[in-house]
Amino acid sequence: MKNITVIGAGTMGNGIAHTFAQFGYQVSLVDISQDSLDRGLATITKNLDRMLAKEKISEADKSSTLNNILTFTDLKEGAKNADLVVEAASENEKIKLDIFKTLDNVCPPETILSSNTSSIPITKIAAVTNRPAQVIGMHFMNPVPIMKLVEIIRGYNTSDETTNKIIEMSKNLKKVPTEVNDYPGFVANRILMPMINEAIETLYTGVAGVQEIDTVMKLGMAHPMGPLQLADFIGLDVCLSILEVMYDGFKNPKYAPCPLLVNMVRAGKMGVKSGEGFYDYSESRKAEVVAQQFNS
Ligand code: NAD
Repeated sequence: MKNITVIGAGTMGNGIAHTFAQFGYQVSLVDISQDSLDRGLATITKNLDRMLAKEKISEADKSSTLNNILTFTDLKEGAKNADLVVEAASENEKIKLDIFKTLDNVCPPETILSSNTSSIPITKIAAVTNRPAQVIGMHFMNPVPIMKLVEIIRGYNTSDETTNKIIEMSKNLKKVPTEVNDYPGFVANRILMPMINEAIETLYTGVAGVQEIDTVMKLGMAHPMGPLQLADFIGLDVCLSILEVMYDGFKNPKYAPCPLLVNMVRAGKMGVKSGEGFYDYSESRKAEVVAQQFNS
């Protein structure tokens, strides 16, 4: 597999494109928004510059990585030669199902279609295609160029052949692929989101403040980042939608999103991407927090 199409140039998509391009794959990065593509490429350049400054890559690595990425606003053009597609568009079921229907029509029959979804069932996505054996979850973690894990999610019909190819591919990216089955939240979010939700509940019920909750978890449990700050990085809207999928999927009240989380999302406080969540990320502060994350 040489030609990789990445759909969505947002937080995850630009990191996924960066990673494949850095390891020599030809990447077609697709987004409906030219602005997102421009911002995505600017982020990749900034992250490569940071790696260059730390002498983790050379100037030649930086230019070959950037040369390996082409951008498209037309999905059909960007996906027609793909060996593998990694879909990282917005976490919205209708958007993803429409994308996969189109991909199934435009991609060659042997193309593997993967999704980076945090919570939408892979089996449901696979069901809108005529190739469910070749549909799989590739759940990268943020920031993608740094984080080692790829949660590999097998849908109900995903074949062994597809799974093995994706495991090998992830190893080529120097990641650690970990295979799990397709149930709400998979494994990463099944465990992480109840912890984040409980941290928000702890704040909501006045047990402790934001700093105190994060400090307890950072210093007491050796977590590199407190749960409230992590929620800000993931995006509070993303956290809410994952909890809703788990609540709906298991019909168990333990996954019910905390009312404070619901209210913050309604009020437009999404975390880092909106400039405010549990912490303040106004422009000057944001650069500092993102740099801190890359240093950790
Ligand atoms: P984001 O909002 O930063 O970016 C989404 C991008 O998708 C935007 O640039 C948008 O223009 C584009 N888009 C929307 N509809 C499209 C379409 N039809 N075709 C092409 N592009 C389209 O979102 P994100 O945080 O990068 O999340 C992307 C996916 O990754 C989601 O499924 C999310 O659940 C998953 N994910 C996110 C994280 C995280 O920490 N943010 C971690 C793991 C997985």
